[in-house]
This record gives sequence, C-alpha cells and structure tokens, in this order.
Amino acid sequence: MTDNLPRIQILPKTLINQIAAGEVIVRPASVAKELIENAIDADSTQITIEVSENVRDLTITDDGCGMTPEEAPLALQRHATSKIASLDDIIHVQTRGFRGEALASIAAVSRLTLVTRTPDSLSGFRLEIEGGETLKTQTVGAPIGTSVVVRDIFFNTPARLKFMRRPQTEFKRLLQLVTAQALSHPEIGFTVTRKKKKILELPVKQSLGDRLRQVLGSSVEGMLLELDSGSLPVTIHGFVAKPEAARKDRSAQFFFVNRRPISNRLLTVTFEQAFQGIMMTRRFPVGAVFVFVEPEDVDVNVHPTKEEVRFQDEKKVGGILYRVVSDALRKANLVPYTRLPEESTSVQPEQTSKMPGLFSSPGDALKQSMLGKKSRPGSQIDLGLYEKTKPDTSGLKPGAYKPRLPVKEPLPETEPQEQQAPLPREAKDFLNSLELAEPIGQIDNVYIVAGYPGGIVLIDQHAAHERLLYNKINAREHASAAQRLLLPINFEVEISRVSDLQEMAKQLESFGIELEHFGGQSFVIHTLPADLSDIDAAALVRDLLDIGEDFIKQKAKPDIQDEIAKRLACHGAIRAGQKLSREEMQRLIADLRKTPLAFTCPHGRPTMILLTRSQLDRQFKRTP
Ligand code: ADP
Ligand code: MG
Repeated sequence: MTDNLPRIQILPKTLINQIAAGEVIVRPASVAKELIENAIDADSTQITIEVSENVRDLTITDDGCGMTPEEAPLALQRHATSKIASLDDIIHVQTRGFRGEALASIAAVSRLTLVTRTPDSLSGFRLEIEGGETLKTQTVGAPIGTSVVVRDIFFNTPARLKFMRRPQTEFKRLLQLVTAQALSHPEIGFTVTRKKKKILELPVKQSLGDRLRQVLGSSVEGMLLELDSGSLPVTIHGFVAKPEAARKDRSAQFFFVNRRPISNRLLTVTFEQAFQGIMMTRRFPVGAVFVFVEPEDVDVNVHPTKEEVRFQDEKKVGGILYRVVSDALRKANLVPYTRLPEESTSVQPEQTSKMPGLFSSPGDALKQSMLGKKSRPGSQIDLGLYEKTKPDTSGLKPGAYKPRLPVKEPLPETEPQEQQAPLPREAKDFLNSLELAEPIGQIDNVYIVAGYPGGIVLIDQHAAHERLLYNKINAREHASAAQRLLLPINFEVEISRVSDLQEMAKQLESFGIELEHFGGQSFVIHTLPADLSDIDAAALVRDLLDIGEDFIKQKAKPDIQDEIAKRLACHGAIRAGQKLSREEMQRLIADLRKTPLAFTCPHGRPTMILLTRSQLDRQFKRTP
C-alpha cells in the first residue's frame, strides 16, 4: 500500500446530496416535475409555475396543505418524507413522492427559498438554503400553501450546467412535462408563466377531454375517441385521436399508470400497433391513456424519477390496451355515417336552405344513436372507480392480443391469432344491407355510386380496393402466392441504392416478389404476387426503395413488412380514373362487405361515405 493512497472517508452531507441529485435532477424540467408532484401530493387545487428567461430560476406555488415550521426543515433533508413509513407502504403508495429525496436534491444544486403555511397556522415560515446549507429561517406572512423558489439551478455543479441545452429547448421539455402532469389531474388548475407572460393557463375542474383539447389544440378538435375498457380486468380510460390527427413524433402521446405520468415501452409499442393498417407509417398516434391497476400489480420504484414502471403481468396489460384502443378505432371506423355531415359542419342548419349542396349538419343525437353510444356524465376520470372495483377477469378471452413486435425483441410468448372485437351492430347491419346494393354508376371514374336499402353509398374505388388487397396480402402465406413471369422484368437503380435493394430482396421474397441482382445497377424481377401480376413492378420496387432506405437504417423490420403490404396494395389497386364495368363494381362491393376494417383504407382514409334515407328526409324537410 502506498502512502498517498487516500484513506476511506465518509463524504460530506452536501456532496452526498449533490451526487444523489445527479439521478433525479438532470435538468430544469426535473425540478419542475418534482415540485409539481409535491404540490399534487399536498392536495392543491391550483399550481403556478413561473420560469425565468434562461430557465434556471423556477418558482412553483401551490395552495395545498403546507408544512409546519417543524416539518419544513425536515422536508429538506434526504430520506425525509411524510408519505411512507415502511417498505410495505411503497407497494400501496398512492402519492407521487415517497423517496424523500427531491427537495434535498434540488436544494443541493441551487439557491432555494421555501415559504409555507398550513391552514391552521396564522403565519408562514420561510427557509433559505444555498447549495444545501441553511442560511436563514424566519416567520413571515404568507398565504396558505407552499411556494418554492429555486434560483441558479446547477450553480455549484458546473458539469451539469454544461449539459443544459438552449433555454428554448429546456423550456420545451419543461412544458412537455407540465402538460403530462396537468393531464394527470385535470381537476387541478395549472398556470405557466415565463418572463411574466402567461404561456399556459388551464382552469380548475376541467374534464379530461377539455383539458386534452386545450393542450393539444385545434388539431384534435372533433378527433378524440373515448377509451373504455368496460368490464375488462384492467381499467383503461382516456382518449385517442383518429388516425388523421397523427403527428410526426411522439410528443402527443401520454401514458399514465394509476395517474402517474410514465413511459413504458410495452404501452407505447402496443398503442401504436393498434393503429397499424389504418395509419400512414412514420406518423405517431395521439392520445392520453390512463391505465389503472391494483397498486400491488405495478412496481413504481424501479427508477429514481419514477418515470418508468414495471407491471407484474405485462402481457395482460398490453393485451387489454390493444383491445381497448382497437375497439375505439373500430367504432370510429363508422366513418360513412358521420363523414359527410362532419365535413359540412361550417354550414349552420338554418343556412341549409340557401345551400347549393345536399348535405346538412346532423344533430349530435344522430351521431350518438348511430354509434350506439349513450352520453356519459362528464368524461373526467373517476378515481373512485379504480379504488372500489375489483378486477373481473371473466371478460377477457385469452388470445385477444397478438403482439407484432420488432423481430429482435419479441414480447414473452406471443399468443395465437388476435380476435377482432365485434363490429358495432349498426356497422354490421349496414354491411349486410350492402348485399342488396345496386351500382348506379361512377362519378368521374373515381367514385362508385350505389343504391342500397338504407340510402346511397359512395365508394372511393381506389381506397376500397386498396383495403381489400391489403387485407388479402396480410392474410395469406406470402411466399406461396408467387407467380413466375413469362418475361422477367429488368430495371436499373441508382448506384447508391444497390445495397439497399439487395438487403430488401429477402423481405420482398416473402411477399412473392423474387428479385435478383444482375450485377452493377441491374436487377431482374422473376415473380410477382399471384393476384397482382398486372402491376408495374419496376415502379413498385422503385417506390419501395424510397421507404426501404429509412427503414433498413432504423432496422424496423415489422414496419417495413407493413409498408411493403401497403405499397403493394396501392400499386395493385384499381386507379382513380379507371372505368369499371357493372360486374367489377358489384364484385368490389361484395368483397368489401366481407372484409374487416372495410370503412378505411390502410392509410386511414375513408373508403365509403353514406347518404342515408333519413338524411335525405331531413334535407327535403320530410321529417315530422
Ligand atoms: P417525497 O415527495 O418523496 O416525500 P420530497 O423531498 O419531495 O420527498 O418532499 C419531502 C416532504 O416534504 C414530503 O414528504 C412532504 O411532507 C413535504 N412537502 C414537500 N413539498 C410540499 C408541498 N408543496 N406542500 C406540502 N408539503 C410538502
Ligand atoms: Mg416529492
């Protein structure tokens, strides 16, 4: 042992807290998160967040239970908490906090002032701390509740400070986080100001739907579908937006477990899977999903910031989420009933007489009755429900969920073929009535017009055929459906694309497209999928290449499969502008009648819209 080897020593308390802060307080947004969570735990009804220009000064004020002068200094100590007393309490913990380290961590890396007053006390108590050292305590006048002023975040931890991004970026992160917190408690009012300017003002006692509409803005107006797990053993509430509202990133996806905002790979993947086949690729669905499970079925103590959770039965939660989201989307696939009216909502009913067209805005009642849906009293989450109901496991059939995950990371034991949730009755009745549909003709060789017992149906011939082909492609054993071409198709690609295409050859083969590299930039196609043999194969492959490049880089194999299926369907489908014979129209309608998800094309656009007898009656003022 050499002389200069340092002897073991206990680190000073401040340093311990700074190290601990490293895990919990990584950026200004983490400070906001911890302080907001404390305010939520304190039963506040209004929380205000003030942010400085450089995002290094934050003030969080609440009107919650406050702390006594005895409690306040304790709260600043590490491992000081009022929320748990034993390990068992962690399992059942209902509060956001329980580790008792947030305040100590924040105080260790900033200049912190805490002012707090309980409802019973006549005056408030003020405490000033700098880098973990208490500078001053005093009795002051203060409103009931707590206000924590945090200044110069990371002033004494230069390494952390260096990792801060531009103020605008840090502020965006902070807002994203506040949004998630605000969605988790729509009954609490939230205000965010920066440089004295109001950035966000969410009123108290909002319903979840209203709050979601407010934070996500007009892009989700009229797009939100309510989730309802009914009697399934895991309770799921919340909203998803129709596929059209999808975004180019995941910033409008919010997940909560027992109201705690969390991120979880399984939930994200499952959620997005439910949209597969009805949404463009590289778009991300929008929604706020609240999962409620028995507290002992989820471990919230797997991450210092508690943003990740571990479910006791992941597969069950995933299966139910998949089913609940796809059910909501399926019901919304009743596009034909609502589409036309929704698109003319700018026309007020009283103006309809002056309107040149045929269609008027329908009453909500119509929509509701068609959706078979009774309006519920407010859409706010009912926590009481979650506390009282014991999960009922009778409702869920095994095998209702078949995860399609990236090949490399399968979910444990995938289950047999997914079972489609039943179509709502109205949709079934409509599809049945299509049996009697009579094609009347085409509009500009783009839309098929057909009469059916309930009215007129307009069909987008390309979109509808795309849906049929897409389902067919997904349903069959791909490789067996190849048809050898009498004349192989030769084509060339850019030199930079050669290796992409070579790599994609295997994927294509599973769809019945046999592609051979002929050397240099030349390729040959030997086989095509049997029922798509008329397509312009070279154009298809070039089209696939465009997506192939990105997907291969991302190694997102299942997505590329889905994208290939979509492109094949698109290339193989009847074009807009193509003249169809009566028989062709009849066949298309007959096939549509039998195909799942008939109401939308694989990209989520509608395949048909209806003009019902009752709409006509109303329009012609025949209604009594
Ligand atoms: P935790 O939240 O894990 O208990 P914290 O360090 O965040 O740990 O807070 C420590 C304690 O301080 C809490 O348990 C609570 O008793 C008290 N506290 C913190 N913030 C507030 C607040 N805004 N209102 C009332 N009490 C608070
Ligand atoms: Mg806390």
